Amino acid sequence: MIGDMYPAGAGGWIEVICGVMFSGKSEELIRRVRRALIARKRVQVFKSHLDERYAGLYHVSSHDGRTVEAVPVDSPEQIFRLLAPDTQVVAIDEAQFLPVSIVPLATSLAASGRRVILAGADTDFRGEPFGAMPQLLAVAEQVDKLHAICVVCGNPASRNQRLIDGRPARYDSPTIMVGGEDSYEARCRSCHSVPRKDEDQLVIV
Ligand code: ADP
Ligand code: ZN
Repeated sequence: MIGDMYPAGAGGWIEVICGVMFSGKSEELIRRVRRALIARKRVQVFKSHLDERYAGLYHVSSHDGRTVEAVPVDSPEQIFRLLAPDTQVVAIDEAQFLPVSIVPLATSLAASGRRVILAGADTDFRGEPFGAMPQLLAVAEQVDKLHAICVVCGNPASRNQRLIDGRPARYDSPTIMVGGEDSYEARCRSCHSVPRKDEDQLVIV
């Protein structure tokens, strides 16, 4: 089963759960956290709250009643300040919104013997690498890429389709539209649409 590769007792390591929106990254992060709680690990969960639409915080409970809250953060430095010295597992959701200093933080946490679990969208609405995710994927011991279901054709979805007023958002619209009137759909590569201003995309036939 994904996420169970590294045994307890090993040194620290980094796991990344990536993929499109609605692919179940948060579900998988919560599953891993719940299992860590069952294993009686001391766990802290953080979640970027850069965009208020993503602030849906949650808590994770194990069947034996142990509960951990996801704490909203907007910087890796905040995670460092909030870290309890005896924490063994650090889980971070919506990691794509955190600045690139999340990479040295995750690396230091792993070097200190901790298990670090990061979940985040690996690509933005254009289908291009998102924030520090490429570096996190590179330094991680374990990477799982999840897929959603394309809402147009039903194939596995690997792209975030941004819609503004129901129409595909153009390539030059901002990566993060805080408080914008946009919405998102999971789509596959062929159903994904990102019109460019000059329509200069390289077309290979
Ligand atoms: P993520 O963290 O990757 O955005 P979540 O764990 O929050 O994903 O949500 C995953 C859930 O989203 C699925 O279990 C399913 O119920 C729901 N969902 C909504 N739209 C889709 C879709 N197009 N494909 C797959 N699951 C979807
Ligand atoms: Zn499709």
